[in-house]
Amino acid sequence: MADFGLRFATDFSPSAGKQSQAFNLRVDAVCLSSTIGLVTATSPLTSVWILGDQLLARQPALETAVAAYGRDAVRVVLVQSAARVGKTACQRQKLVLLFSAMRHYARTLEAQGFVVDYRLAPTFSAGLQAHVTAYQPECLLTMAAANWHGRAFQHTLADRLGLPVTILPNTQFLVGRFDPYPDTPPAQPVVQEYFYREMRRHFAVLMDGRQPLGGQWNYDKQNRQPLPADLPLPDIPVYEPDEITRSVMAEVANMPGLGAVDGFALAVTRAEALAAFDDFLAHRLGAFGAYEDAMTTRQATLFHSVLSPYLNIGLLEPLELIEAAERAYHDGRAPLNSVEGFVRQILGWREYIYWQYWRQGPALLAMNAWVADRPLPAFFWSGETEMACLRHVIRRALDQGYTHHIERLMVVCNFAVLAGLLPTAVNDWFLSCYVDAYEWVMVPNVIGMGLNADGGRTATKPYIASANYIHKMSDYCAGCRYNHKQRHGPDACPFNFLYWDFLIEHEERLRANPRLGRNVLGLRHLDEAERTAVTRQAQQFLASLVAPTG
Ligand code: FAD
Ligand code: SF4
Repeated sequence: MADFGLRFATDFSPSAGKQSQAFNLRVDAVCLSSTIGLVTATSPLTSVWILGDQLLARQPALETAVAAYGRDAVRVVLVQSAARVGKTACQRQKLVLLFSAMRHYARTLEAQGFVVDYRLAPTFSAGLQAHVTAYQPECLLTMAAANWHGRAFQHTLADRLGLPVTILPNTQFLVGRFDPYPDTPPAQPVVQEYFYREMRRHFAVLMDGRQPLGGQWNYDKQNRQPLPADLPLPDIPVYEPDEITRSVMAEVANMPGLGAVDGFALAVTRAEALAAFDDFLAHRLGAFGAYEDAMTTRQATLFHSVLSPYLNIGLLEPLELIEAAERAYHDGRAPLNSVEGFVRQILGWREYIYWQYWRQGPALLAMNAWVADRPLPAFFWSGETEMACLRHVIRRALDQGYTHHIERLMVVCNFAVLAGLLPTAVNDWFLSCYVDAYEWVMVPNVIGMGLNADGGRTATKPYIASANYIHKMSDYCAGCRYNHKQRHGPDACPFNFLYWDFLIEHEERLRANPRLGRNVLGLRHLDEAERTAVTRQAQQFLASLVAPTG
C-alpha cells in the first residue's frame, strides 16, 4: 500500500459508506492529475485549505493546485476555529505557538505572491463557508488531516460547501510512503522494535547494506545513564516574540486554557525551527543518547531536542531531521549511540505511534484493559502533592507544557497505572497540558504505551516501576518527604506500596507476560505480613486521593 493518506482517508468514515468515499476520493485524485500541466488563462479559481498543523514548506495541496491551475488561480485559506479552542482546556503556550505559526506562515505565502484568506471563525465549517462565499472558488484542495475527526470532517466538505473537494495524501509521516506491515489487523501484536528495523532498512538509515551500522540495532545499554550532578546542562534557544506573536499572546491570554502566555519563547517560523534544530545538533545531540532517560530538578529539557512542537505542526519534517543527524554521525560530530537513539525516536517511535493510531482506530480511545476507574486526583491540576517527582513533572506540564518522554512515561503514567486512574481522564489531562499534544500522538502514547489500556497492542508490557527506578534515574528523591527505600510505613514512598499492591492484585496476569515475569518473582521476598501491609497502605492512600470538585 503506497499511499497512507489515501488509504487512511478511506479507513474511517463514520458518516458515509467506506466504499463510496474511497471511490469518490480516488476519482477526485484522478481528475485532478489529468489537469496537471494544462494551466490556461481560464483555469478555475481554486481554494486550498491549509490546516494549522500542516504548515509545511512543501505543502502538497498547495503545490498540486499551483501545478494544476497556476498560482494566479489559487487562493489559500487558513481557519482559526474558536470552537476548536473551547473544546478542551488547552495549554496557552500551545495556542500561541499554533496561531502565531499559522499567521507567520500566511505572511510567508503572501510574500510569495499568494492571496491568503486568514479567518477567525466560530467553527472550521463556518470559516470555510464564509471563505467560499467571499471568494467563489470552483473547487477546493486540502491535505488529509492527521486525526480521525479532522479527516472525517474533510469527507463532509464537498456536501457542506457544494464544491468538488480533493483530499491529498498526508506527507507528514514516512509510513505514508512505506508501511512495513500493511493490512495488519488491529489486535495482532506488532513489536515496535521490528517495525523500526523495517523502517531503517527501507529508508536506508544508519545501515551497512542490510545490516545496522556498527553491528547493533540499538544502544540502549549505553543510553540509560543517570545524570552526573556536576554535568552542565545546555539551555535551549529562546525566540523573542515579534509583533505578530505578541498580538497572539494578548488574544490567547483571554482565552480559556492552562498556563500563562508570559515567557513564550518558542520558534514560530520554519527558519526559527531549523535554527532550533541546528542548536540541538551542535549542543545536545552528542549527549542525547547517554542521558535520554535521566530526570532532574535542575532543568526540564536536558539533552532532548524539544522539536516535537515543530514536527507536529509541519514546520519541520521527519526525514530532514533523520538525515541531518545521520550526517552528524558520519562527520564525527556525534556518537552512534546518540544518533541511533534520536533516529529511533523519530523513525521508530513517532512513525509507529501514528501507524498504531490509524491501525487501531477510534476504538482505542475507549480501551481500559486494567479496568481502571479512579478519577484524576486534584493535584494533577495544581501540582500540590508531597511526592516530589510528580510535583516537579506536573508543575512543568501545567506551566510550560513540556516534560520529556521518561517523565511522561515513568512518572505520570507509571503513577496512573499503579493508582488505577481512568484512562480517558489521563488522556484528557495530557491533551490539555502539553505544547506538542495532538490526538494522533497522544491517544496511542497514553492509552497504549503509557497505560497499557489497549491490552498490549502498542507496548508489550505495562511500564510500571517502584521508587527504585525513579531514584536511580533522577535526583527527585533527595528532596522528597517520602523515603524511596521503604515499602510501607508512614514515610514509605507511594510508588513502592502501590507497585507491590499492583503486583499482588494482578500477579497471575503479570506472571504470564514474559517481559514482566521477572518483576513478579520479586513478590517472593514479601511474606504474608508484608503483603497485607502494602495492600492496606495502598488502599488507604488511594482512598485519600481527592478528585477535583466542580
Ligand atoms: P526527543 O526526546 O528529543 O525525541 C525526538 C523526537 O522523537 C520528538 O520530538 C518526537 O517527535 C519523537 N518521539 C519520540 N518518542 C515519541 C513517541 N513515543 N511518540 C511520538 N513521537 C515521539 N509526543 C508528542 O509529540 N506529542 C504528545 O502529545 C505526546 N504525548 C505523550 C504522552 C505520553 C504518555 C508519552 C509516554 C509520550 C508522549 N509523546 C508525545 C512522545 C514523547 O514523549 C515526546 O514526543 C517527546 O518527549 C517530545 O520531546 P522532545 O522533542 O524533546 O523529544
Ligand atoms: Fe517520587 Fe517516591 Fe522518590 Fe518521592 S521518594 S521523589 S514520591 S519516587
